[in-house]
Amino acid sequence: MVENPFTTFIDLVTYDAALRALQQKRLSLISEQNHLQSTLSLLERNAVLAKARLADLRKEVDKLERDLHELDEQLSDKQRRLSLVNTPKEYMSLQQEIEVLEQNKRKADDALLALWSALEEHQKVDKQRESSESVERDAVHTKLRELQQNLAELEQEIEKKQRLRVEKEIKTPDAWREKYAMMLTRVENPVVPVENASCSACFYPIAQQDLAALMRHKLLECKGCYRILYYL
Ligand SMILES: [Zn+2]
Repeated sequence: MVENPFTTFIDLVTYDAALRALQQKRLSLISEQNHLQSTLSLLERNAVLAKARLADLRKEVDKLERDLHELDEQLSDKQRRLSLVNTPKEYMSLQQEIEVLEQNKRKADDALLALWSALEEHQKVDKQRESSESVERDAVHTKLRELQQNLAELEQEIEKKQRLRVEKEIKTPDAWREKYAMMLTRVENPVVPVENASCSACFYPIAQQDLAALMRHKLLECKGCYRILYYL
């Protein structure tokens, strides 16, 4: 049976529209995949930053503890020397040094107390962050796996459809095929169906007499966007 050239051509055009829809879906899946991957990197970076903040606080606590220990040693050293001084002047001067050291020690004690409570608070917040982020991370991983599965299936489908397209193209009359290929280099959907008596690409209304011709399977150019119109 010789196929009607109009039918084979429109078959190719509608096939291409379906293929294009799949390719668009593929693009949107890829962009969703990128989004999920950047969410994962963001979570990763958050965790690294939070750990670094905790490590910094711990370092500060360690340093302050060392300073305090040193102050204690200096204080007991000076207090020992207090009993060994010979003149009131020496005694006074040593006493003053002890007072300064004691002041410093009080300040360091206060600072350490504040740091400890800050560290405790940070550890608490970090624990909460970790548990909520781990839930989020798992959810993102699950979504990503599903998406990658869908994407792989979609890519297979597209590949299969592209192979089948060759057969459809061969059936199309040469002149139409060439013209269509030319038009495809300019716009992705150069041949569109008539819908509601209008061009389905630019919605330009079609005159009654043109509509009648289209219904007889003539191909006409749209007066709005110059695409080829067909009527099924
Ligand atoms: Zn149009």
